Order: sequence, then structure tokens, then C-alpha cells
Amino acid sequence: MTAEADTAAAASPAPPPAPAPAPSRMMEPPVGAYSAPFWEATREGVLLVQWCTSCDRGVFYPRSFCPHCGAPASALEWRTASGRATVYAATTEHRPEATGATFSGGLPYVVALVDLEEGVRMLTNVIGCAPEDVRVGMPVSVTWEALSDGRQLPLFTPWPT
Ligand SMILES: [Zn+2]
Repeated sequence: MTAEADTAAAASPAPPPAPAPAPSRMMEPPVGAYSAPFWEATREGVLLVQWCTSCDRGVFYPRSFCPHCGAPASALEWRTASGRATVYAATTEHRPEATGATFSGGLPYVVALVDLEEGVRMLTNVIGCAPEDVRVGMPVSVTWEALSDGRQLPLFTPWPT
């Protein structure tokens, strides 16, 4: 390739990126100081939880020390979660327009706390069933909602279906 061709190739515009999905929430979660590995994994549909190798317990949300035993960051590692959980508590938002959420298509949606098999509790939405069908103790599994920057938000759906 000639120098002119190199220059021409370098000057040609890059193809436009694929359009990002429209935000379905008023605010998408920020990437915090300790949560970057968690969010990067969501791009591949992988749910990670921090794990304390000192006391052998899961840690969520991501942080710089173990909240159970106080072990420092050097004792924490990332493990792939099974994606299976049970509903600990749930409530229904009957006015999605008041929160700016569009992921439910204007219909009421469920805000829930779910307990992952790894022993950590996560705030999420349960989708894929009528809100009135969500029960405490109900088994659910992870599913993903695309965010505008390629990350995915872990939501949960009844399991087995
Ligand atoms: Zn610990």
C-alpha cells in the first residue's frame, strides 16, 4: 500500500456505530469505583458477584472490603453467579409514568429484592409475569435489559417458566 493510500485510509470516516437503544429508564446506573468488572461482564450477559475468600461469603454491592468480616480488597474476587434467585420482597409501581420508566410499556411493574443463590440480596425488577403473580419465595432467574451504552441491567423472571 502506498503512503497516499495509507493517508486516504486513515482519513476515511469510520462506519457509524450501531444505534444505541433508547433509554428505558430516567437514570441508568453509573459505574462506581468498584463496580466496573460487574458492569463489563453484563455486556456478555454474565452476572458477577464479589466473593470474600477470607470468610467465604458473597458481597453485593461491589466494594473495597468485606462487609461481613472486614477483610480488605485483596481478599475479594469476582465469581460468576448462577443467575438463580428467590424473591425476598416485592412491590408494584402502579404509575410508571411518575418514575419515567418505559421498559414496562406504560404498564405497572414490580420492584423487588431478590436473594441470589450466592447469598446476596439485589434490588431489581421482576418481569415476564403479571405483577400480582409475584410472590415472596418465588424462584426467578436473571434476564437482561439493554442499557444505552452496551451494558445490560440484570432483571429477573419467573423460573422455571
Ligand atoms: Zn469476609
